[in-house]
Amino acid sequence: MPVELYNTLTKRREEFKPMAPGKVGIYSCGPTVYSHPHIGNFRSFLVADLLKRFFEFKGLKVTHIMNITDVGHLVDDADEGADKLEETARKEKKDPLEIARFYTESFMTASKLLNIKPADVYPKATEHIQEMIDMVKTLVDKGYAYVVGGNIYYDVTKFANYGRLSGNTLDDLNAGARIELNPEKKNPQDFALWKHDPKHLQQWDSPWGRGFPGWHIECSAMSSKYLGAQFDIHTGGEDNIFPHHECEIAQAEGASGKKFVHYWLHTRFLLFDGEKMSKSKGNLYTIQELIEKGFKKNAIRYALISSHYRQNYNFTFDGLKAAAQAIDKIQQCVFQLKDISKNKESGQVRKELQELSSNCLAQFDEALSDDLNISKALAVCFDFLREVNKVDDANSTEANALLDTIGKIDSVLGVLEKADEEVPAQIIEMAEKRKEAKANKDWKTADAMRDEITAKGWILEDTPGGGYRIKRGGQD
Ligand code: AMP
Ligand code: ZN
Repeated sequence: MPVELYNTLTKRREEFKPMAPGKVGIYSCGPTVYSHPHIGNFRSFLVADLLKRFFEFKGLKVTHIMNITDVGHLVDDADEGADKLEETARKEKKDPLEIARFYTESFMTASKLLNIKPADVYPKATEHIQEMIDMVKTLVDKGYAYVVGGNIYYDVTKFANYGRLSGNTLDDLNAGARIELNPEKKNPQDFALWKHDPKHLQQWDSPWGRGFPGWHIECSAMSSKYLGAQFDIHTGGEDNIFPHHECEIAQAEGASGKKFVHYWLHTRFLLFDGEKMSKSKGNLYTIQELIEKGFKKNAIRYALISSHYRQNYNFTFDGLKAAAQAIDKIQQCVFQLKDISKNKESGQVRKELQELSSNCLAQFDEALSDDLNISKALAVCFDFLREVNKVDDANSTEANALLDTIGKIDSVLGVLEKADEEVPAQIIEMAEKRKEAKANKDWKTADAMRDEITAKGWILEDTPGGGYRIKRGGQD
């Protein structure tokens, strides 16, 4: 089934056609590591994760790159203001790289908690200075950029398509310019590729003297390095459209002379009380904070992926509670099927159950192929569970087949708890001993086994079919 995606570049939905059959290259703008990432950032990162998992569900091989911005991202997203990393470094009296290391770790931990599949590479800006210098050199040589003292600017009037992604024209931008005229710039919208600033804490040698790169050049240089001068999909939050992605296109296409990215996907903001959640507003929650408040990591993931990426998502605690209940419904169905799988005989899979599964998977595919229509996909999933709950007298083969379907759906959603199979053999042994003790009405041994399992950090629950399930205790 063809996948349709809304392309910000063309402002319409388009059938997704990968450059190389069966393969997809995705580049996502990652975090600027100057503070803990918040759930708004993660909404954008999770859209990339959902997209990637969906392509993998469809059998495509995905190469995913997500950058780590550790230099050059200035407070106002354009050319003015302090470097975000440097501002935190000065405040905390630390080296910028120490700040970067600390918050990169925080980002990685939260990504893992949210069950985000790791990118193939997380390139750091500070480790790709040479690639950036090379691209800037090409842009100067080709006449797209000019040197003023130790600063290099991109001349936006040289790139005919400047404004195409964001829908801006240079006339409109100049008319509404809040940019104070920098006397070094030929045009108000020209942006810095390389900056000379003796006070900046991070400096590198370059053909134009010591300095540091602008924010936009890192994503053009690093995406080209890992995915080639042309690739399939670029993602980010809606605030990345302008100026960041507009400038990325101007740089990359100016340097290579080729079309840079085929499909641009942008996630609308996560809001809190109707306002964009952002570090500058301070109205934010981090993943760790929500977990400390007692919310489960998979409920946070579910809540953040459960609304369409091209609509704002207004974050509420009720939304998180509803997400936890939804996961519980899936989980209960899984436990019942596992019970059947363990305790019933094997047999033939009835035709109607085969059809139930294949229809569910086809509809799930169809829903997500419709520009990642997650609401439709979740509705398909819950309709399926409702039918599964009605199935009478399933045998273990049927239970396994239905579990396999749920597993395929969860390979995209990524919200189910770890499988029982990951429980250590020693714990399973104790659970089996308890089951046997219960059957022999040896309540003392049964209780002792349960206590021992609990003491080892696992929770044992009896299930209606006479079996049990084991899960990790506490916030796993
Ligand atoms: P930053 O760490 O500021 O560079 O942002 C990392 C990513 O998070 C970028 O792709 C932003 O567009 C995205 N982002 C920031 N705030 C929000 C928000 N409230 N909702 C959705 N995405 C966001
Ligand atoms: Zn970027």
